[in-house]
Amino acid sequence: MLRTGDEYLASLRDGRQVYVGGKLIDDVTIYDGFSGSAKTVARLFDRTASDPALTYVEPETGEKTSLNFLRPRSREDLTARRALHTAWAEVSNGLFGRSPDHVAAMVTGMACRPEVTGNEQYAENLLNYWRHIRDNDLYLSFAVLPPAGSKSGKSSAVQNAMRVIATGDEGVTVRGYKMLATGGALCHEILVGNAQPLRAGDESVAVSFGIAANHPGVKILSRKPYAAHAVSNIDDPLADFDESDAAIYFDDVVVPWNRIFVLDDWRASYGLFVNTPAHTLGNSQAHIRLLAKMRFMLAAAKRLGDALDFTSNPAVQGVFGGLAARVKMLEASVLAQEFQPERWDHGYVSQDRQFMYASSNWSMEYFSEFSTEMRRMLASHAFQQPADVSAFEDDYTRRLFLELNRTDDFEVALGNYRLIRLMWGLVGSELASRNNQYELFYAGPPHVTRSRMYDCFDWASAEQRVDEFLAQNATTAADAQTTR
Ligand SMILES: Cc1cc2nc3c(=O)[nH]c(=O)nc-3n(C[C@H](O)[C@H](O)[C@H](O)COP(=O)(O)OP(=O)(O)OC[C@H]3O[C@@H](n4cnc5c(N)ncnc54)[C@H](O)[C@@H]3O)c2cc1C
Repeated sequence: MLRTGDEYLASLRDGRQVYVGGKLIDDVTIYDGFSGSAKTVARLFDRTASDPALTYVEPETGEKTSLNFLRPRSREDLTARRALHTAWAEVSNGLFGRSPDHVAAMVTGMACRPEVTGNEQYAENLLNYWRHIRDNDLYLSFAVLPPAGSKSGKSSAVQNAMRVIATGDEGVTVRGYKMLATGGALCHEILVGNAQPLRAGDESVAVSFGIAANHPGVKILSRKPYAAHAVSNIDDPLADFDESDAAIYFDDVVVPWNRIFVLDDWRASYGLFVNTPAHTLGNSQAHIRLLAKMRFMLAAAKRLGDALDFTSNPAVQGVFGGLAARVKMLEASVLAQEFQPERWDHGYVSQDRQFMYASSNWSMEYFSEFSTEMRRMLASHAFQQPADVSAFEDDYTRRLFLELNRTDDFEVALGNYRLIRLMWGLVGSELASRNNQYELFYAGPPHVTRSRMYDCFDWASAEQRVDEFLAQNATTAADAQTTR
């Protein structure tokens, strides 16, 4: 099925337990902190449901299905997937990092190589799970990290990381925290597992499964939702683009056996991400999405510069030129990822991992600098403006506002104000700060992201050049010795 936005919103009224501070939210679709973002997600579903180009016919069912779930077999398939990611990224201008196409891409990648689970029944469970989310067009978030201080399940002092506490006829009982489900308040399902390497001794936390957001005992503990504090959509134009983040607490949750993908296997739990196309399909979404965001930020800054007349300065144009070059570099990297697909078992492909991890590393290192340049462009303009739109209601402050903008035309002045508020939303606000943090950590912590690049870089062919050079040089040196 292709889910519509209305169907998505209705499906969120399912008894899920979302806490904001001490408050249990009855209905996330009407709560101020989430309602706007829920509507944004609804727009994503409508976008696919209304555009056949974002669907494919799934061979297993013969049904029109979101490209989210296409197991790619060719470069053309990767290009088709990119069309979906691009279309969705444009809905939020890249501000929804974990839009529903992120984790769906991961599970789709896992379903290309389910045998990595190391157990026939679990492999079947994983395939059936992919079929379930595919055929119901579901939104998944994921929580694949332990909480602070418990990066190793071996830690006897810290026992709050989610772990298996019992197994029985009904399933596997888990208790404790798992971090950090972006979109947790708004999703249908949560993928739980380990996206960071585990080691021997971590067996009790080495469990992977998919669980419904409203499953008994699943507690979704949201961080502060910024939209709940929005003044107006002119003052906070990005209030509908706060995708939410939540710690997940498993209060003795019984995970049914048919939802278990890995149990007691620290290699397989991590392997599901990196020994299948999962990580590559998921992270390439992240880069396509980041491209949409950087283009949008750059264009917003340029429009601001044009409006406030500082882009006419050649020095400022130089800065913009440098930023535009970075945006095009990212675009090149996105295209390079799918140019020569990497081949996996069973005829499936993914984007090339070397380019993919290069993009992850680059964006993690560079995005803060990009954002800082934007802040530099914004300078003090956000603080020169009135506190909020109430200034336009009072005759005296409205007149002063027009004078500040050197115009009698309120629409022109308001246009400047809106651009400035947008820029503040993108680079200065609490949401912007959260989003910067997201770009730093979306692929995992820097040391792990770098080590993945180390692991997949084609050292052999690069080093062969060195060996050949040294061999040639040795011959020349020997000759030189002989002649001397
Ligand atoms: C906005 C946001 C959204 C996120 N969304 C999701 C999500 O949807 N799903 C999900 O599962 N996770 C998500 N994450 C979590 C993300 O993957 C983690 O933040 C990241 O893996 C780091 O883990 P941590 O936050 O527990 O920090 P810690 O592991 O506690 O690390 C703290 C600091 O120490 C550094 N550090 C730790 N160990 C080492 C080491 N051995 N060598 C060098 N430096 C080290 C880290 O790089 C970091 O700077 C999100 C994070 C953010 C910020």
